[in-house]
Amino acid sequence: MLSLRLVMSRGDAPLRRLIKHMSSHRKTVWLASICSVVNRLFDLAPPVLIGAAVDVVVRGEGSFISALGVANVHHQLWLLAAITFVIWGCESLFQYLYGVLWRNLAQTVQHELRLDVYGHIQNLEMGWFLEQSKGNLMAIMNDDVNQLERFLDEGATDLLHVATTVIVISALFFIIDWRVALFSIAPIPLILWGSFRFQSRIAPRYADVRIKAGNIGTLLENNLTGITTIKSFTGEEKEYERLKQTSEAYCESNRSAIKLSASFVPLIRMAILIGFTATLLYGGELTLNGTIEVGEFSILVFMTQRLLWPLTRLGATFDLYQRAMASTNRVLDLLETEISMQDGTQILSDVKGEIHSESLSFSYPERNNTLENVEIHIPAGSTVAIVGPTGSGKTTLVRLLLRFYDPSNGSIKVDGIDVRKIKLSSLRESIALVSQRVTLFPESVRENIRYGNQNSTDKEIEQAAMIAEAMEFIDSLPNGFETKIGEGGYKLSGGQRQRLSIARAILKDAPILILDEATSSVDNETEAALQRSLTQISEGRTTLIIAHRLSTIRNADNIYVLENGKIIESGSHETLISAGKMYKRLWDVQTGMQ
Ligand code: ADP
Repeated sequence: MLSLRLVMSRGDAPLRRLIKHMSSHRKTVWLASICSVVNRLFDLAPPVLIGAAVDVVVRGEGSFISALGVANVHHQLWLLAAITFVIWGCESLFQYLYGVLWRNLAQTVQHELRLDVYGHIQNLEMGWFLEQSKGNLMAIMNDDVNQLERFLDEGATDLLHVATTVIVISALFFIIDWRVALFSIAPIPLILWGSFRFQSRIAPRYADVRIKAGNIGTLLENNLTGITTIKSFTGEEKEYERLKQTSEAYCESNRSAIKLSASFVPLIRMAILIGFTATLLYGGELTLNGTIEVGEFSILVFMTQRLLWPLTRLGATFDLYQRAMASTNRVLDLLETEISMQDGTQILSDVKGEIHSESLSFSYPERNNTLENVEIHIPAGSTVAIVGPTGSGKTTLVRLLLRFYDPSNGSIKVDGIDVRKIKLSSLRESIALVSQRVTLFPESVRENIRYGNQNSTDKEIEQAAMIAEAMEFIDSLPNGFETKIGEGGYKLSGGQRQRLSIARAILKDAPILILDEATSSVDNETEAALQRSLTQISEGRTTLIIAHRLSTIRNADNIYVLENGKIIESGSHETLISAGKMYKRLWDVQTGMQ
């Protein structure tokens, strides 16, 4: 409900927002609109031509056409045929033109919007991402953007056609006979009034439909990513049921919109019927008593139908419009989400890699004291470990160093410069992160390693793989380095994924290396292999190791022990063991002494 209100409050003028966003395409919009209008003008000509033909047959040499200087009735008919030919050709030509223009515009706009939104949210801070549902974001960038495309494809032309029809035909009617004109256009204000009322009532329903569609996206994304957990807990039935309920909520929300939108067309048709029969009866009377000509009557009858009939489509068009506007709001809201983290300006050059935190405190929203007065000092080129129980704040410290979040108090500095002052790209280019959760992309092994440095050569990639001890398993893959690894790298084992991630970090060749539980989820043999690579690559760089298993960090120059967000002790392995406190207890537990 909260998000629904958000959509409604920010979306009071979605069309204006969209037009503003599309300002760079103003020329194309005008051109496409002109083509739509001109096409409709030609399209309205046939009833006039039919009227003129009837006029020629009934009045012969005294017809309207004879005023053009063609006295012979047969010649008049030929002339009419020629005009029909030209008009038909022009109508088709403009139909082609507006079709191409609108549809290409729809393609361009949806393409640009998707890229704009993605480009924008990529720059949003990590805290924002953690608050979002990925499925919903995907629904916005896919479904909502497509909804907009559909409207530009068909809806815009429909609206222009209706407007042109109403204006041109009303004018024509007034030229022929204002009394009949009044009868035939009488339903239009009623229809427009009804349409606007309809619009205002259907808008919140479509906004709700979009939210429900987002919920489906969220659930699907979550379940497909977590299929292993679902299967292992035999939760298929439960998840099926959950999706069923979410999908039913979507259907229900749609049904509520359909109930309203479906009643719209029949109501319009009734209004049209009144206009049509009034024109028929009154116009017929005027023709019978000789006030208007038979040809004019024919035009009136045909035109009334041409005038009123497109209005029945108005319901469908408004429907499309409202859906598109509900989507526009969601897309543009996302695009207008403000980046609250201001980028720094300083570019790091010749990074030594010294890391220093002073009175560093941080809390996640609605949590208290995730980190409290943390003071660490990692001299350039040294290897420092941070250990502590799960949830003690180790990863959070890394997030602050990478500036995924800003501290609530104190600071963390690289080479003496507060990370808030450093340009984000420069800061992150100086740090290579190997984390427990490795993201692999649906590309070849080679391209996945190249992610560490886009400019690296094939040879450098292979060398990095060698240092990461990944050669053996890469060679055993069906196409070696060219083997495509599945989405998320699911075709590889945990240890193999970890090796690729280390190869990436080697390629990145950054002055600071962070290993966040990098070897915690692999077997002993793989761990030993990974350790060898890590020892090799940590040489000459500042290395921050976050580890659970103390055996992996006992050689570190310094070890900080974190508990409940506070540093409770620090020193070398030997010092900490002899101190006999928390570290010693953890060590004893892990070595089986306790
Ligand atoms: P560690 O890496 O030592 O296991 P973390 O730094 O991941 O610990 O987490 C420290 C604390 O912060 C934990 O209590 C955890 O629940 C909490 N936490 C971690 N990430 C978030 C988040 N995005 N939002 C709110 N709380 C979080």
